[in-house]
Amino acid sequence: MQLSFSPAELAFRDEVRAFIDAHFPAGKGWRGGNPSDEQRWARALLQRGWAAYQWPMEHGGTGWNITQKYIWERETALAGVPARLGGLGMFMLAPVLFTHGSAAQCERFLPGIRDNSVVWCQGYSEPEAGSDLAALRTRAVPSGEHYVVDGQKLWTSYAHVADWMFCLVRTSQEARRQDGISFLLIDMRSPGITVEPIVTIDGLHSTLNAVRLQGVHVPIDQRVGQEGEGWRCAKGLLTHERTGLAFVADSLRRLARLKDAASQRPSRHGNLLRDPLFAARLAEVEVDLMALEITELRTLAEVAAGQAPGAQSSILKLQGTLVLQRLTELFVDCAGLQALSYEPADASPGEAGFRDDVASYLIGRSASIAGGSNEIQRDIIARHVLGL
Ligand SMILES: Cc1cc2nc3c(=O)[nH]c(=O)nc-3n(C[C@H](O)[C@H](O)[C@H](O)COP(=O)(O)OP(=O)(O)OC[C@H]3O[C@@H](n4cnc5c(N)ncnc54)[C@H](O)[C@@H]3O)c2cc1C
Repeated sequence: MQLSFSPAELAFRDEVRAFIDAHFPAGKGWRGGNPSDEQRWARALLQRGWAAYQWPMEHGGTGWNITQKYIWERETALAGVPARLGGLGMFMLAPVLFTHGSAAQCERFLPGIRDNSVVWCQGYSEPEAGSDLAALRTRAVPSGEHYVVDGQKLWTSYAHVADWMFCLVRTSQEARRQDGISFLLIDMRSPGITVEPIVTIDGLHSTLNAVRLQGVHVPIDQRVGQEGEGWRCAKGLLTHERTGLAFVADSLRRLARLKDAASQRPSRHGNLLRDPLFAARLAEVEVDLMALEITELRTLAEVAAGQAPGAQSSILKLQGTLVLQRLTELFVDCAGLQALSYEPADASPGEAGFRDDVASYLIGRSASIAGGSNEIQRDIIARHVLGL
């Protein structure tokens, strides 16, 4: 198994580094939440043809292989710039459209996803259907050229800013619950949709919402795939979601920043980095992060050799979120008593310092729930990886 980069891959890595450096040179890095930085980066990515870096060429993407995508994600994370500006549409919906969408749907929806002019949210979870997603009850009943949709979606990230939602709905009651589910694309401006904010543990309404659908009319040509094929579309999509949740490059960057912050934090040993207890915890998480990186590279090598990531993506998701959470805990230890004075109102996006670290710690608790809880990932690993 080949785990090191070839000369061509190293040349590609240098090209990526030069591109990032041309727009955000060291020391003049990305300021999160800053609109002018976002616009500048979006323009640069579109001009270079790298905006939809995960997409195949026939749909206007880069056509990069999995190693090139990995290099891009790693280099952007290490430089602190986003790998992509498009959210769930770019990452999760587009692959479904490539595989299950009609030519007309691809033509209609992909351009807005690629240039990030249309924001999408994911309407899967419901009050009684999270881990057991097949229990979802939001109904879509055909009526002429439309479906009439009634129900409630929960934990819908970015619904409050989304233009559209890709949504799982129940179109029939089948013996196997999965067979009665269809995949709809719903315009969030449709009459009958109400979005209610959910304030999270960090005291902010930055992401989560509840979405009510009452008599919402959705044209039948906004169904992706055949009626009853929604589960098949969603399943492939969840593997994409979990493979993207190892956060290795992000954690590497956090680790470097943590070491820097700890080295400046006075302690009776000189600084916190020299404190034996803190240093031991830091070393433990660093070792686990190295192991995670090797696991990610191993998965990459297997995928490059033509195997699907499948259940192994659950290992990446599980370990990736645990490492990320432990790093955010160490940041709070580093902030010490200052962390106690956290006020959500002060935690403006992109503001440097401990307030952001405390906010990351708090919202980071949800990483082991979102995208399928860690208990569910352990179950998948036990059954499908270990064969227990
Ligand atoms: C930050 C965040 C963002 C999210 N964004 C979205 C989004 O954009 N769109 C969307 O559709 N959903 C989203 N979700 C919802 C997410 O997918 C669900 O929260 C998740 O699938 C868990 O479902 P649940 O919350 O209903 O918990 P439940 O399924 O009720 O689980 C409760 C607890 O029981 C455990 N449990 C449940 N079943 C089992 C089992 N069989 N074996 C062992 N333990 C079990 C779980 O691990 C968990 O600890 C988001 C969630 C979070 C936290």
